[in-house]
Amino acid sequence: MPDTKPDALRVFHLAKSFGAHRVLRDIHLRVRHGEVVAIIGPSGSGKSTLLRCLNHLETADVGHILVEGEALLRTGEAVAEDAAPPAPPPEAQAQYSPQAANICRKMGMVFQHFNLFPHMTVLQNLIEAPVLVKRVPRQQAIERAMALLDKVGLANCAERYPARLSGGQKQRVAIARALAMEPKIMLFDEPTSALDPELTGEVLRTMRQLAAEHMTMLVVTHEMAFAREVAHRVLFMDEGTILEDRPASEFFFAPEHPRAQAFLRHML
Ligand code: ADP
Ligand code: MG
Repeated sequence: MPDTKPDALRVFHLAKSFGAHRVLRDIHLRVRHGEVVAIIGPSGSGKSTLLRCLNHLETADVGHILVEGEALLRTGEAVAEDAAPPAPPPEAQAQYSPQAANICRKMGMVFQHFNLFPHMTVLQNLIEAPVLVKRVPRQQAIERAMALLDKVGLANCAERYPARLSGGQKQRVAIARALAMEPKIMLFDEPTSALDPELTGEVLRTMRQLAAEHMTMLVVTHEMAFAREVAHRVLFMDEGTILEDRPASEFFFAPEHPRAQAFLRHML
């Protein structure tokens, strides 16, 4: 039997401008289940905007996004996974699905600045969305939250407020909070960039563990060692386009594009 399970994520012809500034240009992307994809590139190249269009924190202008085969965004006719659609005409406008909120719930997001609710304890941070959005019974949400805190090594912090946590602890709570919604795909936007160097290791360790459990992950990062060791693929972005999309081992061994070469020389 051929494996007919849809890909975790499929993107065709995605584009986004802020005013006259074209921030994403004709982005194509395929992410299989269990894949870890690192997204690297200079500041301003569109990495965050790409992640934010994928889960509708930004509204893309044009393109198609399929999440586990479901059309989150389409431009004109819906497309099938395996049928790369033609480029949409210049005046085309994309639409998010009326089911966008449900589809986006398959994606958990972790931000550079944690974005925990400051007025809630760690445990409350973890159970808020499962209870209010997914209608999980409170006791069940608490049990799951405690298991997740244990997994990220913070079971003893459940009753603390975020202000009393280190940056590394906050980010591990943020990861646990995203996981509490049982996402199929995790999006990370520079999860260690706001941390002191001595605190990045504990967050990267948690992410490595997720990768080892075959979580599908898109990770915008400046941690080249992490990208090289953990990612299956690397996307190198520059000026709103994906200049390289290759297995991590190949990319780091011999980046093809001169701008990728210059970027790596600068980073390593
Ligand atoms: P990266 O994450 O790769 O650093 P971003 O996706 O944040 O890049 O930004 C890409 C470009 O889009 C930058 O030039 C940035 O200034 C611009 N940009 C991002 N968000 C907005 C916004 N809300 N309004 C206007 N311009 C934006
Ligand atoms: Mg960014």
